Amino acid sequence: MSISTLKRKFEIAAKFAKISQIQKMLKLPKKIATIGSHSALQILKGAKDEGFETICVCERKRVKPYKMFPVADKIIEIDSFRDFLKIEKQLIAENAIVIPHGSFVEYLKTDKIKKLKVDHFGNKNILDWESDRRKQEKWLTAAKIKMPLIFDSPEKIDRPVIVKFHGARGGRGYFLANSTAEFYKRIAAHPDEKFTIQEYVVGVPIYVHYFYSRITRELEILGFDKRYESNADSIGRVAATDQITTNLQTSYTIVGNIPLVVRESLLPYFIKIGERVVEQSQKLEAPGLFGPFCLEGIVTSDLILTVFEISARIVAGTNPYIAGSPYTFLKYNEPMSTGRRIAREIKIAIENNQLDKVLG
Ligand code: ADP
Repeated sequence: MSISTLKRKFEIAAKFAKISQIQKMLKLPKKIATIGSHSALQILKGAKDEGFETICVCERKRVKPYKMFPVADKIIEIDSFRDFLKIEKQLIAENAIVIPHGSFVEYLKTDKIKKLKVDHFGNKNILDWESDRRKQEKWLTAAKIKMPLIFDSPEKIDRPVIVKFHGARGGRGYFLANSTAEFYKRIAAHPDEKFTIQEYVVGVPIYVHYFYSRITRELEILGFDKRYESNADSIGRVAATDQITTNLQTSYTIVGNIPLVVRESLLPYFIKIGERVVEQSQKLEAPGLFGPFCLEGIVTSDLILTVFEISARIVAGTNPYIAGSPYTFLKYNEPMSTGRRIAREIKIAIENNQLDKVLG
């Protein structure tokens, strides 16, 4: 290459660098808001990295992390997340788009979320499919995803089961039972709770994080994680004889998330099942699932994922990857968290006049 061609190339590159700097300085017409919990730090940091102004709606008693880490341009303090509707008008006036996450769905509940007038990222109607176990079963079965057996009556328990209480509660209170008698003994401590009895699947728990873009119609794998649960992850530190003499019982209270990569040969399988889940969602609840979602399950020794839950929004298992995961690095070559991927999708939609495609 001649010196003059090289010089010309440098000039063009410098011009483009200036344009992208100017683009960064131009204010985006929307702000990104979420409630301060779950994956808010990641969502707000990612939005800022994409050039958005950010708002954190926070319970007064939980505000400290959002002041300690400079991810929110504005913090709106409320007494309780249940007061979210009282500040909705303020968010609309700020031109905000709300990003839902696990705590958002848990505190507001699907029916209240559906009534929100503030812009909302993602298909609200799909939230019904994640919160209703029967609908979830219909969706995953249609996508040919293996699921654990559900026992509709305690009398039918004929193998180890895990008993789960309703609502996303981070595994708190879940217990194991080996028989109908053991079930009744343990459920006595939870007289008023609604529960589901699921077959206990032996294998390794894996959470698969996906993103489906309604704009490019592409599915991406953003990463994998496993959870750090008390006391399930510490029982191996106690000898079997001590477990029996101390009458140790397993619990699954989530404390944190641990990053994970899978065998590369498993990627085609994980991509295929993710695509099937998106495809079926489009048939069941148009326009279907878009944005981040997660398949949560156990990989058994035959390398099949038995899915016990699907989350149709960002999950906290993506939090270890605020600076990007090995998989997002392969695709983007820059730090790309799930939060930032959401903000990028919104930015692309705004730039292409397709904002309606990412809201719902
Ligand atoms: P939550 O939705 O309340 O966070 P999960 O349904 O994800 O709870 O379950 C919590 C934990 O319980 C999982 O991380 C996993 O270790 C374990 N678990 C859940 N379902 C099963 C199952 N069917 N078989 C074996 N382990 C399970």
